[in-house]
Amino acid sequence: MERLDDVTLERKRQYVLRIYELLLETYGPPSRRSQADPVGELVGVILSQHTSDVNTDRAFANLLATFGSMEAVRDASQEAIAAAIKSAGLSNVKAPRIKAVLQTIQARYGSLDLSRLASLPLEEAKSELRSLPGVGPKTAACALLFGLGMPAFPVDTHIHRVTLRLGLLPAGMSAEQAHDYLEPLVPPALVFNFHVLLIWHGRTICQAQRPKCPRCPLLLECVYGRRALGIT
Ligand code: SF4
Repeated sequence: MERLDDVTLERKRQYVLRIYELLLETYGPPSRRSQADPVGELVGVILSQHTSDVNTDRAFANLLATFGSMEAVRDASQEAIAAAIKSAGLSNVKAPRIKAVLQTIQARYGSLDLSRLASLPLEEAKSELRSLPGVGPKTAACALLFGLGMPAFPVDTHIHRVTLRLGLLPAGMSAEQAHDYLEPLVPPALVFNFHVLLIWHGRTICQAQRPKCPRCPLLLECVYGRRALGIT
């Protein structure tokens, strides 16, 4: 991926801060949830693929209710895991992915404890996780941010759409590429809040179909909104 020159990098960082302040004024500070287990985060993101948050939460709760621990999930048959996560859909695809990732973590680290990653530099922790089977940039970033409190920036469909429309991402950049592009633009202390605020904004105002540009607090900062409303 092309590297931003220093002037562009600084300009984009300032832009991120302006967007962040506007979002914070609009929605208020997100409340921090208690730190989750990074392995649970990995499994949760696998469950969330192509389904809603409600179905993901239901499947995750049922997985734990059925097996009691991630160690027991690791040792269970694919069929039993698939039955427990049925509500998340694609259970015959997700069950082997979950089992493979848990078995690989066990083989590599001797347990399902990933807390040692917290002592590594962010890039190293990220590449360790991304080398696990079925773990892409979003899954790794979620595990690092929510499970270990590290400033990795997960890009979901809302964040990808909003940052493309704002002009923060270059036109046509994929969500996969956006993780590494956005991360250096966001101060580490703001990563969690900025991530959550962008998702809220994407869900309530900057929706995929018919974004509510005329009432958007980011309108004057947004390439798409200004163009759509003919603001020069
Ligand atoms: S102005 Fe429109 S496109 Fe831009 S962020 Fe707001 S809702 Fe989204």
